[in-house]
Amino acid sequence: MSSALMRCPICKREFRGEDSPAPPFCSERCRRIDLGRWLGEDYSVPVEREDEDETPAEEN
Ligand SMILES: [Zn+2]
Repeated sequence: MSSALMRCPICKREFRGEDSPAPPFCSERCRRIDLGRWLGEDYSVPVEREDEDETPAEEN
C-alpha cells in the first residue's frame, strides 16, 4: 500500500496523494489557485526579465 504523504505547494497542508483529486495539490481548489498564479500573477520563481524592467508591485 502506498500512503505517501504529499505536501500541497499552495496551502502547505500534508495530505495523502491517493486522496487528492488533483495531485500534487491537496484539492481542486488549490490546483486552480496555482493555475491562476501561473496565468495571472508572478509565481515565486526567479525569472530574468528584460522586457519588463518596471514591474508595478501589487500587493494583495
Ligand atoms: Zn492545498
